[in-house]
Amino acid sequence: MKNNRRINDIINEIIVNDNNFVKSHNKEYFAEHSKKQKPYITLVTCSDSRVQPDILLSDPINKIFCVENIGNQILSSEGSVDYGVYHLKTPVLLILGHSDCGAISAFMNGYANELVSIKNELDNLKPAIVQKSDYDDFEKELLINIELNIDYQVEVALQKYSQLIEKNKLCVIGAYYDFKNDCSEKCGKVLIVNINGDKNIDSIKHSSFLDGIDPEFINDTVKRI
Ligand SMILES: [Zn+2]
Repeated sequence: MKNNRRINDIINEIIVNDNNFVKSHNKEYFAEHSKKQKPYITLVTCSDSRVQPDILLSDPINKIFCVENIGNQILSSEGSVDYGVYHLKTPVLLILGHSDCGAISAFMNGYANELVSIKNELDNLKPAIVQKSDYDDFEKELLINIELNIDYQVEVALQKYSQLIEKNKLCVIGAYYDFKNDCSEKCGKVLIVNINGDKNIDSIKHSSFLDGIDPEFINDTVKRI
């Protein structure tokens, strides 16, 4: 895919936007976090440019420790995820998959001819997804596999961080960013599909982690793909 945007225009855009950012944030804003970061979410999401932390929080600075790679995988960036969970001690580890994930479709289509570096990262998806030579309905199976991968990443986290989870110091949430109306009526909705390995909608809805949240929000948000 050719990108026609001129490099000079891109650099100009960065400078102009950053200048606006500087103008709209005073010294006090930065003083709060200039010495130490205190995020409360470790986010593992896909590098896909359509997925950004500000879909979750309007100002994610100092709130989201963001780990991105192709296919929102823990094992591709294990050290970074460990840093968020063990060193920054974020109480939430959020695995966020998304509509139209290119990593999952590449895996499904076969990637033997890919660069070794890309191949290595896609290889990590093997326990999550079964590769087939033919798919009856590729789009439908893609959705299923995106969700299977989210569930698998939650499983990886449950094994790695079991002690923290048992002590209620960490909650692992699997979620799906639906920007294509794949399974919600609202484009851009983030759906919770898994909490600490629980994939049962009714049981998730009654999870103590959702206590105090408007039931209408919960009904709207907790779904399986
Ligand atoms: Zn993706």
